[in-house]
Amino acid sequence: MAGLIFGTGGVPHSTKLPPSTIDGIERVAELGLGCMEMEFVQGVRMGEVMAVRVGETATRLGIKLTAHAPYFINLNAREPEKIRASQARLLQTARIASICGAESIIFHPAFYLGDPPEEAYNVVKKHLAEVMHQLNQESIRIWIRPEIMGKVTQFGTLEEILNLSQELKGVAPGIDFSHWHARTGKSNSYPEFTSILEQVKKQLGRAALDNMHIHVSGITYGKQGEKKHLNLKESDFQYIELLKALKDFEAKGVVICESPNLEEDALLLQTTYSSLLKAA
Ligand SMILES: [Zn+2]
Repeated sequence: MAGLIFGTGGVPHSTKLPPSTIDGIERVAELGLGCMEMEFVQGVRMGEVMAVRVGETATRLGIKLTAHAPYFINLNAREPEKIRASQARLLQTARIASICGAESIIFHPAFYLGDPPEEAYNVVKKHLAEVMHQLNQESIRIWIRPEIMGKVTQFGTLEEILNLSQELKGVAPGIDFSHWHARTGKSNSYPEFTSILEQVKKQLGRAALDNMHIHVSGITYGKQGEKKHLNLKESDFQYIELLKALKDFEAKGVVICESPNLEEDALLLQTTYSSLLKAA
């Protein structure tokens, strides 16, 4: 794969109604984008037969697929049944996404629930390791990506995500640059973006930069971190600086746009990136 490919988090808004995943993939191709994230955020409602058809469509049109697991996952839940349900949702996302031919799924790992972060880390790691073991048993090969989260109550700092990726085979970082900016109130300039990429490279090796799963959107935030997503031009997020950093590090992989306007900002990111490549 050459460089980065760009797409939408969910079916584009301009997809014909009622929008299906297949229509969404077709619309992504018409728009000239390269990938789409299937939003299983309210639950995995796609069956295996449909997943095969989705995969065929994506392959035919040359669109790469990823999936976002349900929001209702907390690998640090107090109740064993909530842990099991979280693991089941993650597993089901992986199973269906892998039938679709997706190479990567992303998920929101956990809440601290007042625990010291290092304690939460060990609990999340243990429960994620169990998921990885099960996927291995089922011979499912798909990258499992804990996401960098935007709120300070959510497990998912850059360090936590990189450490999980380093410690567990088959786990790789889901790098949401906008979340990290919102969470820290910083990380919004070329040198800060390059230092994140440097950290990824140092900890996980060059291969991690060749296989990235990135989320970008405009964002608004306060002391507790993320408030909500915005369109890029309505927010302070320095997406051009980010794209420059990604270009200079020759990062490869998918960039999923989660701005409210979805395809508009995905196209803005793609156009900006290709003009940076041409200028180089
Ligand atoms: Zn997410």
